[in-house]
This record gives sequence, C-alpha cells and structure tokens, in this order.
Amino acid sequence: MPDASFAPNTRKLDVVVIGAGIAGLAAATALRHHNVTVLEQSRLKEEIGAAIHLAPNASKIALKWGLDLDKLGSPEANWYHELGADGNTHFKIPIFAKKEFGAPWLLNHRVDLHNELKRLATTEEGPISPATIRTAAKVIRVDCEEGVVELQDGEVIKADVIVAADGIHSVARTAVLGNQLVAKRSGHSAYRALIPADIVTSNPRIAHIVAGDAQGTGLTTYMGPDRRLVAYPCRRSQYLNIVAIVPDSEAEGSTEQWQVPGRPEQLLESFSAFCDDAKNILRNVSSCALWQLREQDPLETWTKGKVILIGDAAHAMLPHQGQGGGQAIEDAEALGVFLPSSTSPSSVPELLKRAEKVRYERASLIQGFSRAKALGPREGEKVVNAQEHAQYNFGYNGAKEWAEKMGVEVPV
Ligand SMILES: Cc1cc2nc3c(=O)[nH]c(=O)nc-3n(C[C@H](O)[C@H](O)[C@H](O)COP(=O)(O)OP(=O)(O)OC[C@H]3O[C@@H](n4cnc5c(N)ncnc54)[C@H](O)[C@@H]3O)c2cc1C
Repeated sequence: MPDASFAPNTRKLDVVVIGAGIAGLAAATALRHHNVTVLEQSRLKEEIGAAIHLAPNASKIALKWGLDLDKLGSPEANWYHELGADGNTHFKIPIFAKKEFGAPWLLNHRVDLHNELKRLATTEEGPISPATIRTAAKVIRVDCEEGVVELQDGEVIKADVIVAADGIHSVARTAVLGNQLVAKRSGHSAYRALIPADIVTSNPRIAHIVAGDAQGTGLTTYMGPDRRLVAYPCRRSQYLNIVAIVPDSEAEGSTEQWQVPGRPEQLLESFSAFCDDAKNILRNVSSCALWQLREQDPLETWTKGKVILIGDAAHAMLPHQGQGGGQAIEDAEALGVFLPSSTSPSSVPELLKRAEKVRYERASLIQGFSRAKALGPREGEKVVNAQEHAQYNFGYNGAKEWAEKMGVEVPV
C-alpha cells in the first residue's frame, strides 16, 4: 500500500532557516524551490576580517548553484607548501583540483563568499523564488514537533521545515537533543589576520606567498610541534590571510567568539622560535582576532520532527582540514535533494531522517579526521594519511550519488 504521506504536494513548503552564516545561506539557496525565510539574529553587517578556503567538494556544489567566480575574485590553490619551523621545506605538492576532482580549490575572503551565497539565495533572477532574509530576528525557542520558532520579540512563526544553521552555540540543538551541549576546549586557539598584499610583496623572500609563483597561488604552512602558521592569498590576491594556531595558554583573552581582538605582539612572541620568513609575515600583522578552538564529538542525532541541524550546529569541527564550511555546503545540498518541490509536509520528518543518514557518517568522519590532525588520533583510531584524507574529502559528488552508494532512497 503506498504511503499517503509521500503523495506529491501541490504547494511549496514553508521553510524557516535559523542563521545566515555559510550553512544557512547555502540551505536557503538549495531550497529556493520552496518558500524560504532566513532568520538571522545579527544585522549581518559585521565584516569578519578573515578568509576561508573551499575545497573542490564544496566549490563543485556552489558552482552548480551559480557561484560567480568573477564576482568572488578568489585565487585558487595550485600547490600546498609545508615547511618546518626552521624554514626548511617538508614538501611542496602541486594541486590539480579541477583535473582530479572537477572543481577549483578556492581561497576566499569570508565576506566575499558570504555575499556570493547571499546573492544566490536572494537574487530575483531565475525561475524559482528568492529567499527572504530577516535580520535582527533572534530565535529563542524551537518546538520540533510543531515546527514552531519563537523570536526574542515574541513573534511566533510556524513552518513545515526548520533548518537549524545557528552555529556552534545552537539553540535549536538543545531542542533536538533535549539537553544543552557545550563543545569542549581543544587546548588551542587560532589567531586570524589579513595583511595587505603590498606589504608582503615588498619582501622578495615571502612575496610568492601572496602573489604566487610560476605555478600560481597556493597555501603555505610553517609547522611547529605544537603550533602552526597557515598563509594564503584572498580577494584577488589583495590580502594575505593568516591563521596561526597556538596553545591556549599563549592566547590571552581567547574565547569561542569570533571577534575577540588578539595582541599582535603576543602572536609574534608565540612564533619567536620560527624562521625569519615566518616572523617577517607576522611582523606585518597590525590587528588580529582570536578564536578559541572547540572540539565536538558527533551528536546522537541531527533531527527531531520538523527540525534538522546543519553546519556547525550539527558537527562543529576543528579547522585543521578546512572542511567546516565545506561540510555545511554539502549538508545544504543534501536538503535540496531530499526535499524536492513535490514534498508533502507530512513526509518531512522521514525525509529529514534520510538526509541525516546520508550526511551523518561522512561529516562525522571528517570531524574525526580534523580532530586527529589537530590533537593526534584517539586510542584505537585508524590513522589516515594526507592522501587518503584528500581522496575522501574532495571526491564527493553530491548527496544523490552518496545516497545511491549507501542504498538510501532519494525522493523524486
Ligand atoms: C580558525 C578557523 C578557520 C577555518 N577555516 C575554514 C576553512 O578554511 N574552510 C572551511 O570550510 N571551514 C573553515 N572553518 C570552519 C567554518 O568557518 C565553519 O564551519 C562555518 O563558518 C560554519 O558555518 P555555520 O553557518 O554553520 O555557522 P556560523 O558561521 O556560526 O553561522 C551561524 C549563524 O547563525 C546566527 N545565529 C546563531 N544563533 C541564532 C539565533 N538564536 N537566532 C538567529 N540567528 C542565530 C549567527 O549570528 C550566525 O550568523 C574554520 C573555522 C575556524 C575557527
């Protein structure tokens, strides 16, 4: 007997997305065939002075959505160069992302990526409806079974689907799990800074780190035993982005909020034993932000009733593989696959479970790879080498193919 709850629907679903970060904007884009309202607590005006690279598994999806590379203006990663603290090369490998994985590895200014995702979600162009973004709309309560969210000002909104993309401190996660979860401190903090390119290019020894070399632009890492400095260009190579990961004990005032200011002199001090080239990069940091890195184990579940958690709300991960934003984009794409335009409201809880099933193992594994890379493998955990990580992380072609591999039925 056919299940009546899967009978085709004749109206669009009302979808509420909580949070307009990468996950929320990506979900709003993937679900444009429904009526999408994004609720964002902030005024979406804060510029985050940092970059984020999107590996080919994620850029492939965003390009299918219409990501405009000219508007984005992001350099590509054509190589990865790892050096020791002493400045000696460990290895430099070429990256053929487009050839091997079908999409570029993009080095983005966060604001540029955010703006592009916002454009994709809200543009009037195209046959399907643009999402609405409401700012200063803080969600304080979520009822998973009823599909209701309550805003701080008392407004109550009912939806067929609630996509909780509200980040590492998710309120929706508390409603889904039934208890409040606080991600553990990892023992590391990350400094983030952008340095204008012309300051770096004036030093011929480090100019290539922002301007590129004969092979184009790439990622450079100076690796010490308990700290590392990652540098790559962003925004048409106008800036050098740096992420410097140090022990918490050396990152005074660090919290898990993005915008806590760091002290450039303390940052430089943390790398005092590093080679001159690394220190010469850091000497150009005039302001920086600090972010305390938190570790989270896979959750018991991402779904309850009409709610699904995605992005950092579902699987916050350490940044050592640069996959947190990429996994958020993969989650969003999966929602587009599992909630097609014909979806009936009564089938939503079951379809969200299927989307979770397809995403959970992969995102949890990548979360584990990132932790193992940062903190070392746990007892009994398989050690996966960099080549295996790359094949697993980048060789993803979307939720439909993954579901077929797993034997999970995709709705039509
Ligand atoms: C140092 C560092 C470097 C990183 N580098 C990379 C990288 O190179 N590549 C990569 O892929 N990933 C990287 N990541 C990870 C990546 O930044 C995150 O995984 C990604 O930004 C998470 O996006 P999100 O939308 O899930 O969450 P968030 O970015 O936290 O967005 C959540 C949104 O929800 C809003 N919100 C929260 N609560 C509410 C509420 N109650 N009501 C309404 N709105 C709410 C917030 O204001 C925010 O806008 C890095 C992370 C760190 C810390």
